Amino acid sequence: MIYTKRIILVLVIILGLCLAMSACNRRNGREQAPPDTPTASEPLPDDSIKWEPGWSWQSQYVNFRTDRDTVYSGEYSIVVDNTYFNDAWAAVKYPVIPNSMYRISAMVKVENFLANPNDSIGGASIGIAGTFYQSSRHTTGQWTRLELEFPSREMTEMAIALRNGNSSATSSGTAYFSDIRIEKAETVTSTEWKILALIFLNLDAPGFPPESLNDEDVQHIRETIGMIKDSLASISGGLMKINLIDFDVLDEPIRVLNPGTNSTNHEAISRILDERLVGDNYSHIILVTPLGNVAQGWSGLGGMVYRNIGISEIHRVSGERFGFPSTPPFPDAVFVHEILHDLERISKEINPNTADLHDNDTFGYRDAQDEWRAWYTAYMRNTLPGGKGLDRRAYVVYQRKGNFQSVEPY
Ligand SMILES: [Zn+2]
Repeated sequence: MIYTKRIILVLVIILGLCLAMSACNRRNGREQAPPDTPTASEPLPDDSIKWEPGWSWQSQYVNFRTDRDTVYSGEYSIVVDNTYFNDAWAAVKYPVIPNSMYRISAMVKVENFLANPNDSIGGASIGIAGTFYQSSRHTTGQWTRLELEFPSREMTEMAIALRNGNSSATSSGTAYFSDIRIEKAETVTSTEWKILALIFLNLDAPGFPPESLNDEDVQHIRETIGMIKDSLASISGGLMKINLIDFDVLDEPIRVLNPGTNSTNHEAISRILDERLVGDNYSHIILVTPLGNVAQGWSGLGGMVYRNIGISEIHRVSGERFGFPSTPPFPDAVFVHEILHDLERISKEINPNTADLHDNDTFGYRDAQDEWRAWYTAYMRNTLPGGKGLDRRAYVVYQRKGNFQSVEPY
């Protein structure tokens, strides 16, 4: 937290924790009555691939099965059938080699899709169970290929989540997953991050006054983000290096905000994001938006994931500076803070004992005083007692080199 009026830095885990926590702003829709008799959900051992029901928000409204008739080209589909608004996934397990880039893919279609009118748009996706990594979502009866790349990091086995619905995005309908594949690419690793910084100039969303950023704002944003190269290298003592920041300034307005946080709905800007992410091996995305007046006092959000990449969102009010401590000067503090939330997320995936970024007080670093560089320095260099700072492996970024090769299931 930073004790300035507008400046409250908040870690918001928009997707991830919701996977495990059922009460995530979900409300039951009223347009579709729940079935009188809950459907059974039971594992169907089939074929050589290990798969099992993975998780469901409301287990009485999901039916997991295999289907040998409705397939794309393989022998069978795995079916996640939501009989009422729900979020559920089946899991398929594969052996993986640590520290490699993988790609998972499947042909997917959804019959009788119906979105919960009280939620965001749900639909079918593929992802990695137990992580935030997830493909785009599909909602129609047309077979469509979904894919997702991701680093295995320390994993020796991974479970592909075949998911119907999403946190805060429940839906009903029958999702078929056919031709599920996993492939491994030759991979190079480094600690040199490539960042994509997108500056959205305009907000034009129903129910909110329009907001815009001007040329002066853009210049200040670019200058400020440019400072993170030196800040992160010096604070981490050279453990992390930003070697590239690609900027893009967008006129296209932000039109959809997440209820509750009034932050940007990433699926609603997925076309903009996806076309910039293809083949570029970015390590992190920074969104800067003109939402400073509408995002309920939150100046920055971090710890979120888009597809397989950490994403930060910084809200700005036109003509105002970013909130930051003036003694000592640290103009890029909000950007550093939110990127640290991404490192915190990765470090916790590797080592669950990693301290929270907001735990500074517990370790004797006082809020808004020596929280800043002193705490970040101890956190990034992991000089905390018990080794509870960032795991050094969290700095590693993975780049695909060469083509993907098929991996056989168990
Ligand atoms: Zn924070």
